[in-house]
Amino acid sequence: MNLIEKSKKYLWLPFTQMKDYDENPLIIESGEGIKVKDIDGNEYYDGFSSVWLNVHGHRKKELDDAIRAQLDKIAHSTLLGMTNVPATELAEKLVKIAPKPLSRVFYSDSGAEAVEIAIKMAFQYWKNIGFPQKQKFITLKNGYHGDTIGAVSVGAVDIFHKVYGPLMFESYKVPVPYVYRHPSGDAEICRDESLEILENLLKEKHEEIAGLTVESMVQGAGGMIVMPKGYLSRVRELCDKYNVLLIIDEVATGFGRTGKMFACEHENVFPDLMTAGKKITGGYLPIAVTFTTEKIYKAFYDDYTKLKTFFHGHSYTGNQLGCAVALANLKLFEQNQIVQQVSEKANYIKELFEKELSVLPHVGDIRQLGFMSGIELVRDKKTKEPFPFEQRVGYKTTLKMRELGMLTRPTGDVIVFMPPLVSSREDLKEMIHIMKRAIEIVTTEEANLLVTT
Ligand SMILES: *Cc1c(COP(=O)(O)O)cnc(C)c1O
Repeated sequence: MNLIEKSKKYLWLPFTQMKDYDENPLIIESGEGIKVKDIDGNEYYDGFSSVWLNVHGHRKKELDDAIRAQLDKIAHSTLLGMTNVPATELAEKLVKIAPKPLSRVFYSDSGAEAVEIAIKMAFQYWKNIGFPQKQKFITLKNGYHGDTIGAVSVGAVDIFHKVYGPLMFESYKVPVPYVYRHPSGDAEICRDESLEILENLLKEKHEEIAGLTVESMVQGAGGMIVMPKGYLSRVRELCDKYNVLLIIDEVATGFGRTGKMFACEHENVFPDLMTAGKKITGGYLPIAVTFTTEKIYKAFYDDYTKLKTFFHGHSYTGNQLGCAVALANLKLFEQNQIVQQVSEKANYIKELFEKELSVLPHVGDIRQLGFMSGIELVRDKKTKEPFPFEQRVGYKTTLKMRELGMLTRPTGDVIVFMPPLVSSREDLKEMIHIMKRAIEIVTTEEANLLVTT
């Protein structure tokens, strides 16, 4: 049996309809810089940073070396009741770069776990300080926080989450300010309407609300929806006013993706709890973190017999190899001024989008913050009418991009463009050119199909 046959016979892939995989299999064998290579030797731009992870490219020497050096000491020991060297060093570094009142780091292995931890901490915090009635969470419609049951319970992308409804705990959902799909099309009107709905809910229910979860500045998996200016800072004010903990999910946006180290810096917002993961190890190993404040930390600090302990942990929490590569990653951020570079090159991406993509007849909206962007394809640009769901125009476009030498995954009919943060101007130009050609070819074909049927 060859590898492709084996993959079809033995694997079940995450977030994948296996019928699609069987029709279009792909096995990556190696990577170098911002490209990956499959087992037949075909090269592809990593246009989505291997699903939003990669920073400095693949096989980055400093990162490879950090893992090798750590291997000569130890690969893993536990963080339950003790710590290790790189996990401790990394915690200090993380607190130094985190938004100000965040002063404690709790490790886990994935973004979803980091969110679970934030939710459990918020819930238990109120219990520990004598407000046990504060148990519920508010979240944004269309929000995505990972795939475990707790994270799904504060998620609200119907197409992924609805089926698991009976398994979830209930949370209140408020609208996200999605300007392109708002009847007014006006950022401020759309923002203020969303905020008013949130405030009305808080006014009525705050006594039972423990926390509010929100992605930072951009809803990622829900369609690359960039929140209007002033939205997140106003959410912070409302959480303060109604005594609700603000949980900001920086798993997608953290570590430079949007042109700030953490996206909440765009609005000078300080969360009570903050989750991060994905790029924390430069895209190498599974480490995630939940940040919190000294105030929340202290609410759990007492004699063991008071049972205020945070009862949560995973086998590989604080893994040395992961923490060692995260430290090397942060060093490269500093040395190569990655965040500043992203913020500069973001303008170049914007220019290219305008020149190459905005003119295409089926590109309805282009949303971008730094190196995080989405291109929404529509059937009718004037009326914003989408392509029919069954037509899978977004999916087909990314398959065409694959053919042309670039990998990404769409969210519905929104084409995601999230290249590694070190992508050069030439690379960005080439990648956007591939996107343009794929969009042109597929949308023309699909639109004609609609006319003739
Ligand atoms: C990817 C993502 C998660 C989940 O992280 P995993 O490491 O895939 O579990 C959570 N929140 C946001 C905003 C994400 O983009």
